[in-house]
Amino acid sequence: MRKRDFVQVIDLHVHTKYSGDAKITPKELVDQLHAHPFIKCVAITDHDTILGYWEVSKLAKAYEDILIIPGIEVSVENGHLIILGVEECPKYPSLIESVVDFAKERDGIVVIPHPYREHGIGDTSENIEADAVEVLNPHATHEENKRAENLARKINLPCVAGSDAHSLQELWLAYTQVDAKQEVDDILKAIKKGRVKVASIK
Ligand SMILES: [Zn+2]
Ligand SMILES: [Zn+2]
Repeated sequence: MRKRDFVQVIDLHVHTKYSGDAKITPKELVDQLHAHPFIKCVAITDHDTILGYWEVSKLAKAYEDILIIPGIEVSVENGHLIILGVEECPKYPSLIESVVDFAKERDGIVVIPHPYREHGIGDTSENIEADAVEVLNPHATHEENKRAENLARKINLPCVAGSDAHSLQELWLAYTQVDAKQEVDDILKAIKKGRVKVASIK
């Protein structure tokens, strides 16, 4: 299949077995992307490791229509922070400010995942230079996702969504439509500019 232009449908929050608490193998993930009718792009966001991304992206090279975005869900002092577009892990212990600087120095972007769920950084979000807020996370309650949406509005950041899948059944439960070419840099730029729309099938 040819590369898709203009609108990318992306699951921006996916874990592989390299996360330790997740079961999805890189091969299974690529097979699922290959089989899916319209989701051809994921951000790998393993906990504090980039190893899963390397393996998934190596396998995905066999398919021209699949794109893998590098990412890490970094454990910071009071929760989780996602960085996208970065292919290496920040040093530990990870303070929020230094993780943000680390990502920006490498032209990455910072997404605040599930701010009001367990491991969310909560109101600290208001004081950091993030680029987007995850407002749909299937592991969060409706109320927690609503608070995340209100936060995004308050701090004037784009809203994104991802499944936070740790098993195959959880893949694609939430995803983001991004007006961009099928290229990592263009997608990250579009997220920053807010050319995004969230969707959930939960
Ligand atoms: Zn998390
Ligand atoms: Zn996660």
